[in-house]
Amino acid sequence: MAWTNRRAQELRERAEQVIPGGMYGHESTVLMPAEFPQFFSRGKGARLWDADENEYVDFLCAWGPNLLGYGFEPVEAAAAAQQARGDTLTGPSEIMIDLAEAFTGMVSHADWAMFCKNGTDATSMAMVTARAHTGRKTILVARGAYHGAAPWCTPRTAGILAEDRAHVVHYDYNDADSLADAFKAHEGDVAGVFATPFRHEVLADQHDALLEYALAARALCDQTGALLIVDEVRAGFRLARGSSWSALGVQPDLSTWGKCFANGYPISALLGSNVAREAAKQIFVTGSFWFSATPMAAAIETLRQIRETDYLERLVGAGRRFREGLQQQAASHGFGVRQTGPVQMPLILFDDDPDFRIGYGWVSECLKRGVYLSPYHNMFLSSAHSEADIAQTLAATDEAFEALKKRRGSLQPHPALSALMAGH
Ligand code: PMP
Repeated sequence: MAWTNRRAQELRERAEQVIPGGMYGHESTVLMPAEFPQFFSRGKGARLWDADENEYVDFLCAWGPNLLGYGFEPVEAAAAAQQARGDTLTGPSEIMIDLAEAFTGMVSHADWAMFCKNGTDATSMAMVTARAHTGRKTILVARGAYHGAAPWCTPRTAGILAEDRAHVVHYDYNDADSLADAFKAHEGDVAGVFATPFRHEVLADQHDALLEYALAARALCDQTGALLIVDEVRAGFRLARGSSWSALGVQPDLSTWGKCFANGYPISALLGSNVAREAAKQIFVTGSFWFSATPMAAAIETLRQIRETDYLERLVGAGRRFREGLQQQAASHGFGVRQTGPVQMPLILFDDDPDFRIGYGWVSECLKRGVYLSPYHNMFLSSAHSEADIAQTLAATDEAFEALKKRRGSLQPHPALSALMAGH
């Protein structure tokens, strides 16, 4: 069936009337090419259908939560069984303890777990825990890193006071000297250091964490008593079956988890070592839905799948096939592309494309051929991305490169992206 967006346009117009801006937050398509649909009707495995019934091989995976495939049966069954017993009750189910035991058993630095709903809950709890533990104010965050949408960390400034982030200080990711300088400039006052497992910022090539940087972060925290916090919300369980920095031999004091550990059910977590247990006992953090049992049952099954199946090897295998296929196609069509980050969390940017118009043009051509990609944000594979999905994807991307070549001279920059970049 030919790609169409008639219903998408109608929904956009209705949404404009009753939802500010028609949509908000990270799933808003305001920074996507104009053709991208805002509303979806269903998902299964690695596939997604929009409101016009266009079918896509989805490389956003709900922006992370889809790890094992949409509607993955074993997780759905565990969630449904718990839902039938009770979800949001007057107190948590005992499975909260099972989940904390399972999670801390998998993440080497963790002695305890606290559960919440979104990644921002977990990162904000980590910040408060670090301040409670040290009695200090300064929180060090890598410049440009995203840790959520609370006043202390949101990237946009509307409605935010300078005071809200007065003690949030930036350093440069992967730069041990810049981190040491930040410690020196705030000597005696650093409560915690945030680091993501690798550098995964929008509109910029991704970079692995340098060992020297991770070791320096650990050493500076040890010397000063500050807490090292690894924010696993985006990358957790897509690099490793436990702590992402275990491969570097660096153990954080706290780690924050969200998105994918219940395969799409709403739950996030703060994990910590015994060093931070007393502080974690003192802080007051809660929410009406934080103790609901259904997402916990989904999480227990998802963690079991992570421990006992080859999901990670399949993610990596699919990501590698995708990357290698694209690299060959781009070269044969005469485009320079930079594919950075782990193959299972790819970001694809074009050479000689300062305002991103080539990349935007290419993902638009892919969309109309049934492949949903992002032109500016890292993407995610799931273990449901099969060889057939990747083969179908590569057939579409090849045609998209061909179509792009023909349109190359008439591509335009994206207005909202240009405005955002001018404001940076
Ligand atoms: N930390 C990181 C590294 C993230 O990528 C995100 C979300 N993209 C968050 C925190 C915030 O998570 P949430 O949107 O679930 O609040």
